[in-house]
Amino acid sequence: MNTPEYHLYIAGEWMPGVSARPNVNPSDTSDVIGLYAQADAGLAHRAIAAAARARPAWAASTPQQRFDVLDAVGGELLARKEEIGRMLSREEGKTLPEGMGEVARAAMIFKFFAGEALRTPGDLLPSVRPNVGVEVFRQPVGTVGLITPWNFPIAIPAWKIAPALAYGNTVVFKPAELVPGSAWLLAEILSRTALPKGAFNLVMGAGSAVGQAFVDSPEVQAISFTGSVATGRRIIAGAAARGAKVQCEMGGKNPLVVLDDANLEQAVETAVQGSYFSTGQRCTASSKLIVAAGIHDRFVQAMRERMARLNVGHALRAGVDIGPVVDERQLAQNLSYLDIARREGAQAIIGGETLERDTVGYFQAPALVTGTEPGMRINREEVFGPVASVLRARDYDEALHLANDTEFGLASGICTTSLKYATHFRQHAQAGMVMVNLPTAGVDYHVPFGGTKASSYGPREQGRHAAEFYTTVKTAYIAS
Ligand code: ADP
Repeated sequence: MNTPEYHLYIAGEWMPGVSARPNVNPSDTSDVIGLYAQADAGLAHRAIAAAARARPAWAASTPQQRFDVLDAVGGELLARKEEIGRMLSREEGKTLPEGMGEVARAAMIFKFFAGEALRTPGDLLPSVRPNVGVEVFRQPVGTVGLITPWNFPIAIPAWKIAPALAYGNTVVFKPAELVPGSAWLLAEILSRTALPKGAFNLVMGAGSAVGQAFVDSPEVQAISFTGSVATGRRIIAGAAARGAKVQCEMGGKNPLVVLDDANLEQAVETAVQGSYFSTGQRCTASSKLIVAAGIHDRFVQAMRERMARLNVGHALRAGVDIGPVVDERQLAQNLSYLDIARREGAQAIIGGETLERDTVGYFQAPALVTGTEPGMRINREEVFGPVASVLRARDYDEALHLANDTEFGLASGICTTSLKYATHFRQHAQAGMVMVNLPTAGVDYHVPFGGTKASSYGPREQGRHAAEFYTTVKTAYIAS
């Protein structure tokens, strides 16, 4: 069978790139999903120019027109949840329920921001001067460059594209190289809406060519990026140097504290879901489990029993809990962190090994590493796979200290039945998101998402707070 080819979407036209890149299924490397057109810097600049030309038309659209476009996208995503969910499973390796759940979430994000287009906030204030009024209102920033990672192939693009369009901006969008299929399906849906030509552009290609073009172009007024710390820092430096607005969501090393008084069964489920679901490939994954001495041994034993029941396999098969690692490079990185932990004196008491299945894919047994010390690399660096480490804490104070003992600050969790500790932790955990008796991964679509410290830069994403990044405030003085 011929491999289907997918084109770029620039200035309202589908067009080939300078080359085409095959994409394979991490559950079955013999499954070539498609050939995806790759843009170079020249084509990226063509898309940017189209987005710049479309600015006045889309900025002049009414809130009702924006609502209609975004609501239609949300509706179609919901209607095609299973089909698009399959694409997420096929190209990223998340299980089908996870894939379908992510599509539904993306749909709700589009519907949420459809409503926000009608509710764009503003203020009417009296002036300090007589017979003068002050109107504070929000306008589009202009053209925004959106650069997304592979781990949430449709939800992260949705939570950038939807607010960008809701608030009247035009978009150039570069998905991650590993997940072009979900991005293409979303672009195809957008291409059939009433958006003006050029208001939305899909530019698949390498970060160093396409992403860099967004960072360099003075026609891109704002850049929103999710990905690694190293790339994020480069983007911040480049965009800020020319005065562009920039928002970056980068890594995490999210702790989950388990106190002596926690409900053991609930704590184990919270840890397993937060650490291993979606193959641990979430920036909010809990990869550092800080367990109080009084419950430590019971917790580790219960984790071992629960993890032995996890079914790792082909992402599209029924009954599979955990799909494959996304690619060979990520699998090598996961294995190398387990090696480093071993050399530093800790070990996986369960899991970590690669697994053979009836298809050739990147399967790895979820790993729990015990006997670790705070300074070990496994406790300090983001692994981004199904690997979690356990640290023993004397008491709550030490657990809080260990939770905050990281350069990152995305999500932080605690399992406890104590109102006192839960309340204290909510106040003192150094993270943008705090979870009490819930997995660190798994967030709502209508509230702010983001972190502190090295995890994030710039205003929050999602929810009403997204207006801060995707709009610019104008203050008008009106004398009567
Ligand atoms: P990950 O390790 O999760 O793939 P990266 O930071 O490498 O994270 O990639 C996240 C996104 O940033 C991808 O879409 C990638 O293509 C893009 N990217 C990579 N390098 C650059 C760059 N120099 N400028 C802009 N974008 C880039």
